[in-house]
Amino acid sequence: MRDPRYDILFEPIKLGPVTAKNRFYQVPHCSGMGWIRPKSLAVMRAVKAEGGWGVVCTEFCSIHPSVDSTSLQVRLWDDHDVRVQADATAAIHEHGALAGVELWHGGSRGSNFDSRMPPMGRETGRASTRAGVFHPGQSRGLDKADIRNIRQWHGDAARRAVEAGFDIVYVYATHGNLLTEFLNPATNQRSDEYGGSVANRVRLVRELIEETLDAVAGKAAVVTRFAVDTSDEETYEAFTLINDLPDFWDLTPNDYNVEMGSSRFVGEAAFDDNLKRAKAMTSKPIVAVGRFTTPDAMARVIRAGAQDMIGAARPSIADPFLPKKIEEGRLDDIRECIGCNICYAHDALGKPIRCTQNPTMGEEWRRGWHPERITRRETVSRALVVGAGPAGMEAARVLGERGFDVMLAEASRELGGRVSTECRLPGLAEWARVRDWRVGQIDKLPNVEVYRDSAMTADDVLATDADHVLVATGSRWTTDGAGGSRAEPVAMADGARVVGVEEMLAGREVPGGHALVYDDDHYYMACVLALALRQRGNLVTLATSAYRPAAWCTHTAEFLASNAALAEADVEIVTHHRLDAVTPDDASLTCLYTGMSHNVDVDWVMPVTNRKAVGGLHDALAAHPGDGTAPPFSLYRIGDCDAPGTIAAAVYSGYRVAMDVGAPAHNVIYERVP
Ligand code: ADP
Ligand code: SF4
Repeated sequence: MRDPRYDILFEPIKLGPVTAKNRFYQVPHCSGMGWIRPKSLAVMRAVKAEGGWGVVCTEFCSIHPSVDSTSLQVRLWDDHDVRVQADATAAIHEHGALAGVELWHGGSRGSNFDSRMPPMGRETGRASTRAGVFHPGQSRGLDKADIRNIRQWHGDAARRAVEAGFDIVYVYATHGNLLTEFLNPATNQRSDEYGGSVANRVRLVRELIEETLDAVAGKAAVVTRFAVDTSDEETYEAFTLINDLPDFWDLTPNDYNVEMGSSRFVGEAAFDDNLKRAKAMTSKPIVAVGRFTTPDAMARVIRAGAQDMIGAARPSIADPFLPKKIEEGRLDDIRECIGCNICYAHDALGKPIRCTQNPTMGEEWRRGWHPERITRRETVSRALVVGAGPAGMEAARVLGERGFDVMLAEASRELGGRVSTECRLPGLAEWARVRDWRVGQIDKLPNVEVYRDSAMTADDVLATDADHVLVATGSRWTTDGAGGSRAEPVAMADGARVVGVEEMLAGREVPGGHALVYDDDHYYMACVLALALRQRGNLVTLATSAYRPAAWCTHTAEFLASNAALAEADVEIVTHHRLDAVTPDDASLTCLYTGMSHNVDVDWVMPVTNRKAVGGLHDALAAHPGDGTAPPFSLYRIGDCDAPGTIAAAVYSGYRVAMDVGAPAHNVIYERVP
């Protein structure tokens, strides 16, 4: 049962006219579902409510057809949207949670690619595409009539929010949106009563809070999402002017890349100082995020008076049942977020949310998956999983939950596959949570046997008498330099020194001197390895075929911090160049724009380009070993040994295939809206 140290997390709290049953607050977060996938959205939010969150919010919500963004948002434009949102609030209410909605006007940041109307915000603002694509469109400045319209639209949307059943309505004044453009002296160039002094720049926020309070008329609480930051005195000056106006506050730091910082750069509960100061300045409750996954940290910040509620987006994605698990004293079962930001990456690409730790995230409706419940099979059969990386461990866990007798065979002593090696690299320590949670869950399943130091051959597999065999033997980084920008291997002269990524991952000694890390992969690995080499004292040049290092990390909101870390560590950066040849003394890089080559003097090269599936065991089994007849088991390949990809993709593959094993064949891969 619950540890009394955490009782404070379960005390109800009054938020204006409504009361939350506990201190767990799922703040608004994108889901890639928005108005396009309302059923998926309603069921996903309902699962969070079922998991014990006292408040569950939707993502940002457009208040008017003239405002849209490249990220998917929900809408409250008219009665149709009220009906759609009412399904979500009903699903959330069913489990005793309050439902919140973040009313949104994007200002210049609303790209309006849908509506094709010019974004309205500040003069000469630039349309913002979170996918990192620059856009030539500019916004137009708001005149007084526009401001009056926006106030009207916001009030109308607030009334619709109440009609749709929302208990909490946001005035959204952070993250670079319309109200931030007014608050920020750099973007507010107005000479009227909305520009100039802090009081003037806060005016629209004040008006919207007052008008939203009027619009909801005591039937819902009004919260304001606002940035206070000890690095920016003026944020507190602005806060003082409206400190007691809304029913409560949702406070963030100024910089979204810090608020949403990946675990490589930002730890748990990182904003205490900002919050303590604000707390002393208001009588209203404060909710704030901090990627909280441990109940001790949660209880500590509430006791310390830094905040009243534990805001969470990512921890609620990785574990929708986090509050229930704390309540039931099942701390070992908490699936801790690893701070990789894969959850954030796909919504800007228009695709449903996913999570490295929680493969059911985003699949609650369209596949009917649940983060805590797996239906058991009636007939028992034996399954062998070969390889205990993220894919194999997840598959073994799910097969175990489904009631199979499971053997999990791993070649090495240590479980975890790639996460066990990668977590030793700079900034990646939290990757180990992918392994640790699964080890803990598998340990609790009496029907799953783990065999370490068990490198399996095809004959070994045949000798197990398994009914189902899942091959999860992973992948290995290649050393030949072929990758996204060149299909053929790089020309290597005699005596050229190439060190493979696998050698670094295995912790082997690498040569000293000047290393060229060549990135044709574009995720975190090349940058992390460049930093690791700098720590070992190497001179490092990082060359990439992309227009910036860690180009895909644009989607995970970490490329700025990642590139800052490279700059601070004195890593020389060469962009938009392909590695074409390596000699003992230098490497030849070719400009992808001009085709011109130049040589850089380096002692050795590390290509971070492709990974190759370790598919030998699968292929041998598929070729019918032994007497040549079809083997007496069903055969699957999962994770990186099927197709090398993210850790999230490997975990997902393990879950998906394990759910399919022994199930009747079906030809609809997932539900679609009729
Ligand atoms: P994934 O991300 O798909 O889970 P990983 O590379 O992380 O893949 O993990 C693959 C695991 O499979 C590694 O731990 C590796 O030691 C193990 N493995 C590879 N070949 C065999 C084999 N023949 N028998 C048992 N384990 C194997
Ligand atoms: Fe956390 Fe990564 Fe899951 Fe996002 S995808 S919730 S950052 S584990």
